Parts: sequence; structure tokens; C-alpha cells
Amino acid sequence: MTTTVIPLGDARATTYTVQTIEVSTDECCAEHGACGKPGVIAVRNTIDQQRPAESSTYRITLCADHQDDAPRMHGLWVASARELQDPIKNAEFLASAGVTDDPPLILWGRCRSGRRWFWTACEFDGADAHGWAASPDEASRQANAAAVQLAAGRYANVRVLHGVATEKLKKLNAAKRQAKPPKPKRKQAKVTPPTNPIGYLYAVEPGRYELDDVTWIPAKVVSFPITRKTARRVYYLRPRGLFEWQPGYVDRQELERHGAVRGAHWLQLFATPPEIPKPKPAPGLKELKAAMAAAHPDRGGTSEAFIAARERYLKARRRAA
Ligand SMILES: [Zn+2]
Repeated sequence: MTTTVIPLGDARATTYTVQTIEVSTDECCAEHGACGKPGVIAVRNTIDQQRPAESSTYRITLCADHQDDAPRMHGLWVASARELQDPIKNAEFLASAGVTDDPPLILWGRCRSGRRWFWTACEFDGADAHGWAASPDEASRQANAAAVQLAAGRYANVRVLHGVATEKLKKLNAAKRQAKPPKPKRKQAKVTPPTNPIGYLYAVEPGRYELDDVTWIPAKVVSFPITRKTARRVYYLRPRGLFEWQPGYVDRQELERHGAVRGAHWLQLFATPPEIPKPKPAPGLKELKAAMAAAHPDRGGTSEAFIAARERYLKARRRAA
């Protein structure tokens, strides 16, 4: 095994590590990859860079028949790295690539942001851009376009590094959180109903099917304790969940004039227990079946209407069973 380390001494502290190693995996890539026999030796070139830290490895695997090419490959890679190490050679190389100065390093990446995709493109230690897109492909496209815009016609080293998007999004979210004033803690004393309320408001809890979708729970009158009356308002408590109560109020004059008021959470609140309205007789299976047939697209119905009608029919049939 031979290892040659060539530090380039450039701004990104690039190091080329060329190694010839014994291997027992991969196929020979000699003869432009046509050989394909089991590999026994490999020449590998690892390029490490700092700011941002990156590492990439190129590897050529050779079989027993072609392993004599390994020293030549090793020498070739070392030579080209040394060429880059020499500042003059390096400058010549960069000039041949159309670079007169240090090429700007532009990074772009994307990451999930809720249901959307966030992207960012930034020049290393320079300007940046970001945005959101509906799909990962669209985010990549926008990020790429932004990277080209940041390069502004310069020869640039553009790299994909999705970590930059995650970092940028984190920073944006942190800034957003800081910009928001902290939510005032709501002081909410536990509300308990009075033991001897001065009166009640009433409402009708409509009938409904039990969770099993078969058992019918009939409508009933429910009462809410009144806690206080002023000239304009009647304050009461309405149940929230099983054991909690929430304060509310209704217009007193309206309640006294009409005997009932519209409530925010209940359709109507009554001053005295209301009569429960007689339920409309539920349509029979026969009617539901006819309605389903009438809603069929063959007879001019929409498929949504048909599906809904069919659902009603099937439900009723289950209940009748
Ligand atoms: Zn071979």
C-alpha cells in the first residue's frame, strides 16, 4: 500500500491523498470499464477541503491482469496534484479554466419546510437568496437559478450542499420567533359552576347517532347555570369538554323580549326549557334507494351526489339490520 499526501495550500486547505490499496471488491474498470474482472488493487484519490468541510473520493479498481497499471495511475494523480500545488502551475491551471482570481464558492441546497420545500443559495461569506417551492424539483430549479444569479457572470465553483438550507431555515425561524412578542400567559382560573345559580339558560342538544353509527341518541334539553345578570347581559357557564366550564353571556333584553337568543355555540339559548321539536320521520329504505337511483350519473346525477346518496342508503340499511 502506497500513500502520497499533497496539500495544495490554497484558501480552502485542499489536500489530495493518493493511495494504492489491495481490494477484494468491485470490478476492474480497465479498457474503459469493459474488463469487469474481479478487482485486486485500487488507486484512490481523496480530496479533502475545509470551509466548508468536504471530502470526495475517486477510485479506480484493477484486476490481476491489469494491476500493473496501478503505479502509473498513482503517479499520474500525484503529478496532477503537484501541478496544482505549485502556485504558478496552479494559477496557470485556473487561468486555463477561465479564472483570473479565486473563484467564488456558491453553495445551494434544499430541505423540507412543513409541506413545502425551502431552498437557499449563498456565496461563501457573501450574498445569499432563499425561497420556498411546492416540490423538491422546483426548489432545486429555483436554487440553481439563484446560484447562477449570485455568480453574476463570474466563473464560479457551484456546489450542492443541502445542509446550508437546513441551517438557513433554522436561522430564519429563530429570527421569526424573536420578532414575535412573547405570548402573554393567560391567567385562567378554573371556572366552577355556582352551587345555587340564580337561574338557568336552556338549549336543545340535537339527537345524533352514537359512535357505532347505529344507536340513536334522542334530542334532549340541557341547562346552563346563570352566574350574573346586568341590565344588558346575562352571564352563564357552558360546558366545555366533560368537566370544564366556559363563561359566556347573552343579550338580556333580547332574551327577555323573545324568550330565546342565538348563541355562539348553541343554535339557540332559551329562558325557559323549550319543547323538543318532533323529529322529521327518517326516510325509509325504499325512498333512499329511489333517491340513490335518481342520483346515478346515468340519470344525470353527479358521481359525488350518487356516492353520497349511496352512503345514506347503506347507512340506513345497516341501521335497519
Ligand atoms: Zn482488468
